[in-house]
Amino acid sequence: MARRLAAYFADAERPEKVSSEVPLRVDVGRATITGRVDRLEREPDGSLRVVDYKTGSSKPKADEVATHPQLGTYQLAVEHGAFGSEGRVSAGAALLHLGKAAGASETPALQQQPPLETQDDPEWAARLVGATAEGMGGGEFPATPGSWCTFCPVKTSCPAMPEGSTLR
Ligand code: SF4
Repeated sequence: MARRLAAYFADAERPEKVSSEVPLRVDVGRATITGRVDRLEREPDGSLRVVDYKTGSSKPKADEVATHPQLGTYQLAVEHGAFGSEGRVSAGAALLHLGKAAGASETPALQQQPPLETQDDPEWAARLVGATAEGMGGGEFPATPGSWCTFCPVKTSCPAMPEGSTLR
């Protein structure tokens, strides 16, 4: 992983690094997006790209990257001024796979999400964050099964799962 990360840093084609381990906190409607981004980059035109390091063995399918929720949320944060004077024009966001997901290569696998404003539906990330905030702030929080259930820590208490059915 260190070799792959070093290869990424040494790639002269990569955009300029603004900072790493950058804290962010920004309100987007009813939601507050908080966290810390692994790396923030700047394109020559001044737009900003968040790069998220991944160390696992799996990665999203290619056709899932354009609407990857985490990357879309980072872009939304940029557009809402999460990085202050650094700018609020998004250059997209990216996953940088440093672990087994990079395969046998000595270089990392980079999956890039294009800027929201260039996508067919530029508002999808705002709708997603808005709907999530409304759902979590509402009086009911329905269980929504999906592939993510595999890693869910509360599966045995979930009414949508056979394991949690005794709670129905
Ligand atoms: S097991 Fe239930 S609570 Fe956990 S992610 Fe799946 S639907 Fe949500």
